[in-house]
Amino acid sequence: MNPQLRSKYEVVIGIECHVQLATKTKLFCSCGNDARDAEPNTLVCEVCMGMPGALPVLNKHAVELALRLGIALNAEYKLPYHMKFDRKNYFYPDSPKGYQITQFDEPVVPNGFIEFPVDGKMTRIGITRAHLEGDAGKLTHPEGANYSLVDLNRAETPLVEIVSEPDMRSAAEAKAYAQELYNIVRYAAVSDANLYYGNMRFDVNVSVRPVGQAEFGTRSETKNLNSFKAIERAVEYEVRRQIVLVEGGDKVKQETRGWNDDKLETYSMRSKEDADEYRYFPEPDLPPIIVTKAMVTAAAAELSLLPADLRKQLATAKLPAAESEVLVADPVAAGIWHQVALENPAEARFALNWLIGDRIKLEETKQQPLAQSQITSLPLALVGSMVREGKLSSSNAKILLEHLWGDDTGANEVAAKLGLIQQSDEGELGKIIDSVLLEQAKIVDDYKSGNERAFGALVGAAMKASKGQGNPQLFTKLLKQKLS
Ligand SMILES: [Zn+2]
Repeated sequence: MNPQLRSKYEVVIGIECHVQLATKTKLFCSCGNDARDAEPNTLVCEVCMGMPGALPVLNKHAVELALRLGIALNAEYKLPYHMKFDRKNYFYPDSPKGYQITQFDEPVVPNGFIEFPVDGKMTRIGITRAHLEGDAGKLTHPEGANYSLVDLNRAETPLVEIVSEPDMRSAAEAKAYAQELYNIVRYAAVSDANLYYGNMRFDVNVSVRPVGQAEFGTRSETKNLNSFKAIERAVEYEVRRQIVLVEGGDKVKQETRGWNDDKLETYSMRSKEDADEYRYFPEPDLPPIIVTKAMVTAAAAELSLLPADLRKQLATAKLPAAESEVLVADPVAAGIWHQVALENPAEARFALNWLIGDRIKLEETKQQPLAQSQITSLPLALVGSMVREGKLSSSNAKILLEHLWGDDTGANEVAAKLGLIQQSDEGELGKIIDSVLLEQAKIVDDYKSGNERAFGALVGAAMKASKGQGNPQLFTKLLKQKLS
């Protein structure tokens, strides 16, 4: 699109994100919550099949996880806090009750915000609310058949829907917001957060308005995006489509759209129903819940580290922002780094380099994620200190950590066993240099007659004579002394 035309418009984006909570059972019954490998309609009972007269019983753990997420989203709880459930009435074949149990005006997360960097600049996006609700079942439409199949395994799986303020102004911000929610959900450990299995799904509301206009343009909602790239592309596509419509004198229709990942375009699904058609009313089968100080304190105690805290810690350690963000996006590595930085701040830089570098290659060769290795903050800090004290060369540190990956023997023992310890005794190294100077008299003459490169050859000879275990910095220093 012509950049001049594009710059006449401001983009307004809000995002709704469904997060499937990692509970053992569903939201209102004791059926299993993990339907991934289950045969259709095997994880069902009277309650989640919507049988008349069956009564829901609220899953306590779902409330605890939702509260924990609320605190991670900086929700401001005025305690005691009152929350309740409501019925959202609509008919759809994958929802046999004829209504959904959700939260209308007193949600589990009243408001909040998150902060994260976009192109190196901190950006704050408001969270309007987040509510608990049961998921719908799943419909499949066999090709060529004149019927559809219903699978209720997913019905009443606990979801939290996080609704943002319409605070985002670019596709890059929308993508970064979704990535930060993904970070927070994983740090807070409230969901398996598997995007492929739809544990997190994003609906993106996009509108455009002429720069300077106060009221919002009409928005479209693109549903069920489950990759960050798709969010970015769908926003860019919608912005172009809507500007072309407005410029051509047409109106943007308020509608629900889908995303075609092959054609890289959105398509119209249905015009949007108004909220008041749902005839919300308080759920008569579930009592309201008073969120107490004890409940909030208990939920907060489960949060050990959040991305925002980690960024502050990385900045205090004066580590580069770009590399730091690679670590932030990786909760397991971030947890290990956080421990190293707390207990052994001098090794923070070494730990960061290894965690975002060699460790990723090691996961590939070992075919095992970091979480299943024996590498914790302790061996990592120990190896870092051995490098810093000159006991270990950086290349030998890499070899040592590869051995420690599946071996919890101490780093010192393994390093000694493998002969990786660097010789840093000046007396011992001095003796090696004396013999090198005698044996390589011709190279010494070369150096003395002005050939600078001969110096490197002498260091190499000393390294070889020490079987690779001499400290090269010390060899250099001693050689310079002896040759001057
Ligand atoms: Zn059930």
